[in-house]
Amino acid sequence: MKKLETVSHMKIYKAAIIGLGPSGLAVNKIIFGDNPDEIIAFENKNINNRDNFFGFWLTDWMKPFEKIIEKKWYNWTIGNKNIIVTHTSNKPYCTISFKKWKNYCLETKHKLEIKNTKVVQYFSIQNYFKIVTDDNNEYYAEKIYDSRSVKEKKDELVQHFFGINIKVPDNTFNEKKLTLMYFTEENNILHFIYVLPFSHNNALVESTVFSKEVFHNSWYRKKINDYLKIKNITEFEETSSEKGIIPMFFAEEKNSRNPNIFNIGIRGGACKHSTGYAFSFLIKQIQLLKNSNKNYVNIHKFLERKMDIIFINFLKNNNEDGKSFIRLASNLNGNEFQSFMMGESSFLTKLKIIKSMPKLPFIKELFK
Ligand SMILES: Cc1cc2nc3c(=O)[nH]c(=O)nc-3n(C[C@H](O)[C@H](O)[C@H](O)COP(=O)(O)OP(=O)(O)OC[C@H]3O[C@@H](n4cnc5c(N)ncnc54)[C@H](O)[C@@H]3O)c2cc1C
Repeated sequence: MKKLETVSHMKIYKAAIIGLGPSGLAVNKIIFGDNPDEIIAFENKNINNRDNFFGFWLTDWMKPFEKIIEKKWYNWTIGNKNIIVTHTSNKPYCTISFKKWKNYCLETKHKLEIKNTKVVQYFSIQNYFKIVTDDNNEYYAEKIYDSRSVKEKKDELVQHFFGINIKVPDNTFNEKKLTLMYFTEENNILHFIYVLPFSHNNALVESTVFSKEVFHNSWYRKKINDYLKIKNITEFEETSSEKGIIPMFFAEEKNSRNPNIFNIGIRGGACKHSTGYAFSFLIKQIQLLKNSNKNYVNIHKFLERKMDIIFINFLKNNNEDGKSFIRLASNLNGNEFQSFMMGESSFLTKLKIIKSMPKLPFIKELFK
């Protein structure tokens, strides 16, 4: 039976999703995918133009999506021009493309009504919400799943990056090993190159910075070219590019007092701010929300959140060039490293991590 109410002429949807990024899409599939409820979604950009890769380690909660994984790597490196640490893990690092995630999440029993317009505001009226869009239309829904988020804030760190997909001569890349972080020494900013070799002649090469200001594309391009030169890759064809900004500060919204408003994705606190990883965590968030009677779930454990805050404050107040990351990588094995990145590390691993960090600046941050 369709659970669609009609009050006089107005239609009340079961739920309204604001934003069809990965988290809004996940709500459509994971929470409402198997039932016939009528759902409406609002997205002000053309998501068919969006494509980028989301990386994560294959935890149990990500296994249901194995069939849409683009590629898996069991080996990765972290280093700089002097030292390279290689990790091997039995849980592979994987990527899913936004396009595949979108197609997978839009394949459901119900038909999602998508409005290509911006939500200006919403407010509750009795037991439903009125949603107002910037083309002056009004819609009604029983529940709101809101994924709008602030990407930049004055004096706060952001992770910003630009990457290109390249085609190169045969056998240029070792497709079994990805470069997670190759730090280059810069003044006052933390910069590293990330390389996903999809095959021996095709890779995504990305330049990533942790700083308060975002740069012009030409800055990242130069860093990518410098890196490719070091690797003796002079001949390449660029097939596409991706760019992004991920906040390294904490979402203010997180949980809403209204039990029928669900803040999701980065807005709902899914991002692990010290690393910028959010994709697998926002999926976990939606899976947990599906089985919860609350409108908010804590994705990151208390101790991990504390460690994240201390680490980000350390990055804000010190000139870190990547050596702390390399030291951390050399003190952990691949399984320990991935467990930490995915929020599943044991107490012993956490102690090893704390031991790897520069002592004095960390103690200072702890007591601030
Ligand atoms: C290029 C890129 C690569 C990334 N790579 C990784 C990775 O490898 N691994 C990882 O874990 N994380 C990664 N991230 C981080 C994170 O997973 C993404 O930022 C992810 O998109 C967050 O999803 P979200 O649904 O929370 O928010 P968003 O993707 O920002 O989705 C919100 C949507 O809401 C829409 N919107 C905003 N305001 C309105 C409004 N008023 N009305 C209607 N619609 C609105 C926006 O257009 C947007 O589509 C990456 C991010 C980017 C940008």
